[in-house]
Amino acid sequence: MKFNAYNIFFKYTGFDYINSTRFYIIHRFNEDSEGPNESSLSDFTIFLAQNPEYMKSDALNYHIPRSTIGFAGAGYKSQLRTVVNSFSFNDPNGRVVNHELGHVFNLDHTFLGWENENFCEHVTRDPEDPNFNADDKGDKVVDTAAMPDFLNERCRELDMPVNEVCPVELRYFYLNEGDCTYFNPNGFDCSDPPAPYQISTEDVRNLMAYTLGSCGFDLTTGQGVRMREYINDQPSLYAPITNTISSLYEPYKGDYYLAGPLPDDFKPALFQPGFSYMFKDCCCGYPQPSDFEDTSFTVGPHVVKFVDKTETVYESITHPNHAAFKILQLPTIVPEYRKCYDNWNKAPIGGTVIKFNDNVFNNNITLTQKDSTGINNPNLIQNLPSGLYKIEKNYEDGAIQESVIFKENN
Ligand SMILES: [Zn+2]
Repeated sequence: MKFNAYNIFFKYTGFDYINSTRFYIIHRFNEDSEGPNESSLSDFTIFLAQNPEYMKSDALNYHIPRSTIGFAGAGYKSQLRTVVNSFSFNDPNGRVVNHELGHVFNLDHTFLGWENENFCEHVTRDPEDPNFNADDKGDKVVDTAAMPDFLNERCRELDMPVNEVCPVELRYFYLNEGDCTYFNPNGFDCSDPPAPYQISTEDVRNLMAYTLGSCGFDLTTGQGVRMREYINDQPSLYAPITNTISSLYEPYKGDYYLAGPLPDDFKPALFQPGFSYMFKDCCCGYPQPSDFEDTSFTVGPHVVKFVDKTETVYESITHPNHAAFKILQLPTIVPEYRKCYDNWNKAPIGGTVIKFNDNVFNNNITLTQKDSTGINNPNLIQNLPSGLYKIEKNYEDGAIQESVIFKENN
């Protein structure tokens, strides 16, 4: 997550549905002929204003229509929300998701104003140069170069209409996809006399450029500073959606095992993907994880589990017993291990799944023995074929807990 480098972190809070087909397809502009499942961005904005239940005021909202026409995403800094189509939202590279987030945090396109003599940024980076305007024009970020809109530059050179979509073969005309470089012998800024663009691969790779989807993911230090300043300067806007660092140490759903038999519908605590978690053995005596502020436990040398930030098997991002953890994206903010979970209450040590093959209680049964992992598998019941079962759970002290379930068709 590019924003983490600037101490901006996100806590997942869940999702919901808009119960309407009007926004399956969202157009950038109002169209004369919109189908029943289509709408425009401005109509969607009006809808949200009239239906505030679809805007979580304590969170940054992503609204995800099935598809969009004329844009992939849109970010609104004053409302802390974005629209991103489902295709872009599911893109593992996350370029659109992050680009719109950049707008939410007050970043402009790196080429902003490039065609307008009153707003265009000059190439010079020398503050002593009378042509220097990088701190005040374009995206107002000095460490991003003066640059054109790579997507549309060729179409503008050919004087094609601004309100028409640039044909595919002319888009990103001067970019080299192989190494994300820019070369246009006729590319000049708007200073007098015009200066040739000095565009590095970092500029082509910038998240806020209009650039190739395979190139544009990075942010500069200057953009990081601009985001942090905006957050600090807008306390009333950000206070409702600001959370504590300790919230990153809380599961986004599920529960910790406390004591006694595991409920059949038990779901283990799951942690947010996108962070790297290092779990080491800890001691002693926290049947539920210790409070975030409590660092009085001891941490041993053993790596109990490691979860990389790229992990996509979300059910695997759990907190093992007898372990505390560190989030590796917070090396200076929270350098210590936290949340020692050291629970010696016993879960079942094994058990038996008894299937009544005729779906009535008779002697035509199939027995399946389960070890502790099998009997404690939270998906034990979910994974059973349909039918009538008795499940026996055996405890270390000899106790047996029986439950009967009828599993419906999946
Ligand atoms: Zn944008």
